[in-house]
Amino acid sequence: MRNVLFVISGPSGVGKGTIVDLLLSEDSDLVESVSCTTRAPRAGEVNGREYFFITEHEFRDRIAANDFLEYDEHFGNFYGTPRSFVERCLKEKSVLLEIDVVGALNAKRLMPERTVLIMVTPPSLQELERRLSARGSEGEEALKERMRRVRYELDQAPLYDYVVVNDDLQRTKHEIQEIIRKEKEKSI
Ligand code: ADP
Ligand code: 5GP
Repeated sequence: MRNVLFVISGPSGVGKGTIVDLLLSEDSDLVESVSCTTRAPRAGEVNGREYFFITEHEFRDRIAANDFLEYDEHFGNFYGTPRSFVERCLKEKSVLLEIDVVGALNAKRLMPERTVLIMVTPPSLQELERRLSARGSEGEEALKERMRRVRYELDQAPLYDYVVVNDDLQRTKHEIQEIIRKEKEKSI
């Protein structure tokens, strides 16, 4: 069995966070890397759980110190994957990253043999918008901004190793668990 860096991407509101929580709760051999961000926490988000919420000043210092495996800017905020955590965990387990398409492709470039890219897509754009507004975490403008980025993200699907439609949550979870199982068994 090999330890793999699994990257889950997909448009905001497609269900990535929900799926990742289910995967982690059912597989103790999988660990999620918590990213750093300069965006403000949403209601209910806890520092160190969803993200490490840090200042832009601190983020820039950490970029300079090469502390991020990859980082990117979205919607005016920085997001980055802590390098040391991922490298340390990969010695013992498989690691899950929930990051955007640019970050995913950067991770694949850095660790091509170890990285498996999974894109989660919505059954339809209408359903995506419904989920995003049902979550109620964004104001009208932020919601529109996120919807504008969707087409770009979905267009990157051919660059991914797997594309999974998140229609029924349980079905999606099983499909991804099967991908994880198969990929860990591959000998490369
Ligand atoms: P993301 O992390 O991709 O931004 P979330 O996990 O926050 O998305 O999911 C957005 C909303 O959609 C949440 O309210 C979640 O409960 C809901 N959701 C997730 N998966 C499904 C699904 N398969 N069917 C219906 N609703 C879903
Ligand atoms: P949100 O603000 O909705 O939590 O996330 C906005 C976007 O940032 C999402 O597309 C999410 O996948 C992405 N993201 C979260 N963490 C990281 C990270 O560490 N690196 C990169 N490149 N993107 C991230």
